[in-house]
Formats: sequence, structure tokens, C-alpha cells
Amino acid sequence: MAGTVLVTGGTGYIGGEVIDQLLAKGYSVNTTVRNAAKSEPRLRARWPEAGERLKVFQADLMSDEGWAEANAGCDAVAHVASPFPLGVPKNKDDLVVPATEGTLRALKFANAAGIDRFVQTSSAAAIAYGHKNKNHFDYTDWTDLSEGVPPYIESKTVAERSARDWVAKNAPGMVFCSINPVAVFGPVFDDDLSTSVEMVKKVMDGSIPMAPNMGIGITDVRDVAEAHVRAIEAPAEKVRGERFPTSEKFMWIEEMAETLRARAPELAAKTPTRRMPDFLVKLLALFMPEMQQIKGELGNVRDVSGKHTEDVLGFTYIPAEQTLEDTARSLAQHGIVKF
Ligand code: NAP
Repeated sequence: MAGTVLVTGGTGYIGGEVIDQLLAKGYSVNTTVRNAAKSEPRLRARWPEAGERLKVFQADLMSDEGWAEANAGCDAVAHVASPFPLGVPKNKDDLVVPATEGTLRALKFANAAGIDRFVQTSSAAAIAYGHKNKNHFDYTDWTDLSEGVPPYIESKTVAERSARDWVAKNAPGMVFCSINPVAVFGPVFDDDLSTSVEMVKKVMDGSIPMAPNMGIGITDVRDVAEAHVRAIEAPAEKVRGERFPTSEKFMWIEEMAETLRARAPELAAKTPTRRMPDFLVKLLALFMPEMQQIKGELGNVRDVSGKHTEDVLGFTYIPAEQTLEDTARSLAQHGIVKF
């Protein structure tokens, strides 16, 4: 099915990879950015051959302006744009409101344009939080907001729930599904790094001198994009209403550092070789915002299975060790981590 797909958030890490794969398969792509004057030259430089097959529209998640034009003539939407900051905002609505209103806005304009295939980039954040004493999750699990979770987790959970409710009520014929990645790593395009890749950078460049007792699920940006493309192309009955977590493996930060030392030793001289005691994380959290987030995750296993996605969409994940190596090599090639 080649046609035209609207990819929201074309400046982003995942949005860029989705565009890359769609263009490579012969699709035309409309994409939204917040500031076209700033972002269009960057996108044109990335895909110089795309010409008229790539159209860039200025549209913010918080305003109706530009959305009708961006959707016109499209066959499907990959709604990827959503705020994903490194720090925790003082006001949770800085994330929850644009994530939720933006998703509903994208849905409404897609529906008004007659588009019947909508793939939302949700997150494992909407699956694996708010449950005490539960370590293993899959596509059937939902984050429980009742006892309070960090704003980003809430933003992704509320956005996905609201989207599903909106479709059920207003557009039952629309084929809606979500992609729910764990932490996304893999090759980067330039030095505008996603929050997730910042973590690998910090493990490589010595800014984490000791490894906190924290782990994360790992998925490759190329697999996340492939899941989007396959969800757009699959028969409606296969994907309608589905949730597609993408996750290859859960790893502790210590294991990530070991993997980098084993597979790319020339890039791994500054990776942490010792565990940071929990009390030190808690002490540093008093004045380092990123340690505050780590403090809440000490010792937690949130292992989200991505098997359902492999089974339904029919592909095999890149091994996490390869993803980590490719991330490190890419960060080095772009001069983002210096040695
Ligand atoms: P990213 O590189 O920071 O991309 C975020 C994108 O959202 C950017 O294109 C950004 O545009 C856009 N955006 C943010 N606020 C916006 C607004 N108010 N109006 C319009 N666009 C806005 O992050 P990413 O890693 O690619 O994440 C993309 C999506 O994947 C997000 O929905 C995120 O929640 C989800 N996700 C990411 C991960 C991960 O580990 N990376 C894991 C699970 C889910 P600007 O360039 O204008 O800022």
C-alpha cells in the first residue's frame, strides 16, 4: 500500500525514523513540526531526494492551526508528537495537557479528513507503572494512576486512554492502535538527542561515574518505526484496537555498561564499573533533577513483554546488545560523545 501518511513530530527521534522507513518504501509523507522555518531545512537536509514526496506543515499540539492542511489527502496517521522532556516539570499539566489534547486534536482532524487508520505512539509508561510488587507486564496491562505517578507517565497513560475512549464514541469505524515502546535507543541522526538516548550518552561519557541500581527495557528505534509502518499496512482486523508494546529485553544500567565494554571497548573507557550505593543516589537527588527520577526507580524491575507485537506484526527485534553497540557507535560517529 503506498500512499500518503501524516507523521506528527517529524523533528523527533522516532518520528524521523518512521518518516525514513516510509519514504524508503515509496510512501509520500506529510509531517508536522512546531516551527517550520527552523525545522524544514533540517528535514530537507536529511531527505534531499524526497522532494515533493515530503511536505512539512507547521502545527502545534495546542492549536488547531495547520492540522486540516496537514491531514488533507492522507491515508493514515502516525501520531508520534508528544512532549518528552529530560526533567520533571513543576506543573504536570505542562505534559498531560499537550499529550492528551494534542492526541485528541490529531484524531479529530484525521477523522474530519476521512482518514480511517490511526497509529498512536503511546509508551510502556501507559502499561507498567502504579503497581506494587508486579515486575512483568504485557499488552493487557495498564498503568494505575490512583496512587500518583510522575507527570510523563501520567501524560502517556491519559493520552492513550482518552484516544481509545474518543475513537469508541466518535469514530468506531476508525482502525486505531497504539505502539507502546520501552526506552528507545539506536542510531541517531544528529545531536538533537531524545531523552532516552541521553541515558546511553551519560553511561558512555563518564557523567554517571557509578551505575545506579536501576534498569530499563530496551527497544531499537528501527524496530519501533517498523512497528508503526506494519501497523499502518496490516489488515484492519489484525490491528484494530490493538496495543503493541515494543521491547527486546530489560537490562540493569550495570549490564548496559558491561555490554558496551564487551562490544565496543574503544568507546567504553568511561562507562561505570561499580554500583552506586542507593544512599548516594538519594543524597544526590537532593540537588540533581535526573537523580530524583532514578531514586524512584531504584531496584524496580519493569519488564514489559514485546512478544505480542512480534507475533501479530510478524517481525523479530534487533537484540538489545546490538542496539546498544549501534547507539554508542552512532554517538561517537556524530562527535556527540568525545574520547
Ligand atoms: P523527541 O525526539 O523528543 O520527539 C518529540 C516530538 O514531539 C518532537 O518532534 C517535538 O517537536 C514534538 N512535540 C513536543 N511537544 C509538541 C507540541 N506542543 N506541539 C507539537 N509537537 C510537539 O522524542 P521521541 O523519543 O522521538 O518520542 C516521540 C514519541 O515517542 C513521544 O510520544 C514519546 O512519548 C514516545 N516514546 C518515546 C520513548 C523513548 O524512549 N524515546 C519511549 C516510549 C514512547 P519539537 O521538535 O518542536 O520539540
